[in-house]
Amino acid sequence: MSSVPANEPPAANPILPSAAPPPRKSPLEIYKANRARLYPNITDEQWNDWKWQQKNRVTTLEQVVELFSIDEFTAARLGDIAELYRTAITPYYLCLIDFDNPLDPLRVQSVPAVDEMLNPGELDWDPLNEEGDSPVTGIVHRYPDRCLFLVTSYCPLYCRYCTRKRKWVDEDGTTGARRIEKMIEYVAAHPEIRDVIVSGGDPLSLSLNYLEKILAGLRAIPHVEIIRFGSRVPVFLPQRIDNELTSLLEKYHPIWINTHFNHPHEITPESAAACDRLLRAGIPVNNQAVLLRGVNDCPYTMRELVQGLMKIRVRPYYLYLCDSVMGAEHFRTSVGEGIEIIEFLRGHTSGLAVPQFVMDAPGGGGKVPLMPNYILGNYGDSVVYRNFEGVIGRYDDVPRKPHQCVDCEDRESANERGIARLLNRTADRFEPTAVRDTPTAIKIKQRE
Ligand SMILES: *Cc1c(COP(=O)(O)O)cnc(C)c1O
Repeated sequence: MSSVPANEPPAANPILPSAAPPPRKSPLEIYKANRARLYPNITDEQWNDWKWQQKNRVTTLEQVVELFSIDEFTAARLGDIAELYRTAITPYYLCLIDFDNPLDPLRVQSVPAVDEMLNPGELDWDPLNEEGDSPVTGIVHRYPDRCLFLVTSYCPLYCRYCTRKRKWVDEDGTTGARRIEKMIEYVAAHPEIRDVIVSGGDPLSLSLNYLEKILAGLRAIPHVEIIRFGSRVPVFLPQRIDNELTSLLEKYHPIWINTHFNHPHEITPESAAACDRLLRAGIPVNNQAVLLRGVNDCPYTMRELVQGLMKIRVRPYYLYLCDSVMGAEHFRTSVGEGIEIIEFLRGHTSGLAVPQFVMDAPGGGGKVPLMPNYILGNYGDSVVYRNFEGVIGRYDDVPRKPHQCVDCEDRESANERGIARLLNRTADRFEPTAVRDTPTAIKIKQRE
């Protein structure tokens, strides 16, 4: 049917230049070439053994300088940084870096940089005031029904933008058994805690024995409904997510995992397989990314990331604004850049792929959702909105009515905090003094 003869070569495209640049290597090709170059004698068995990966991490400045051919002047400046903030990069993650690109997004996340010395005197070690919300060392209890449970300061890989950089400066490793006991006692003594978020450091770096002790301790508390892990192990040490680990975790269901992919290049056959093993053990895997200058501060990169995550069945959960933490100032983006990214996602890709963009308010104010405005006006009987395309319309609303459920226990509960109390009519308004009476606000005041 076609009038073009079958064997005719295609006519030259008048738009494309005739001498096209050589195609860029795919991330998988880069990974394979790096591994062949840097670890030529390592067998697959060693490579896929997480203990080998852990033992052979790049941890010294000398290694970094040599690997990345860093000039002498820069190396000297990096000396102070290396002393203050430790370095660790697994061979697996290292090989995902494009060494030809000094701005490679994975390199930026993992390799120490002189920018970490920006403003060291002025910035805060603990901008979220986690220490202030810590009734017992290792616990951060800020929200009514859930708490952080920090079990180690150790990580297989230290992200340069880490919000807990302070922890790796003055602590080294796993929280001791005695302290864990105290933390479990705290959770047991607080029946309002139904969700425990085991984090660190990276909790999945612990030995199976120790992990089991912690899980058994938490599961023995009747009011603990769910246990969540915050772990980046699936991203930088995916070999660690083996059957032994998943069979341990699944004994303590319901377990959830929040992992932390920041860039599409981190979605590899290995990290996908690690997430698959978790999912097959019945553990939902969600992603908490951080918006980082030079890593993922681009709507198209972010779309590729969230769509890639959907393909490996990992649900984008949060996108964090980068905290103003000492040693990570150069990673910060404006709030507006994040809102722009959400504008590019909402309506343009699967709703399941759109994370909630949040800022962790300085001083311990907690997470504040940030998003584009879609409601242009709310007039009681009608709402004027705009959609993702810019269409502006009216929605005819119905009058508001109170809840009509008869058996809902929490109706008019005075236990809610903040704005929720205005809406359930247990408070009519808050005045500045009343606001200052909340634990968080008192702490903010103390810090002024
Ligand atoms: C983020 C965070 C949580 C968990 O928040 P979710 O919105 O439930 O995921 C709990 N405690 C603290 C201190 C946090 O920073």
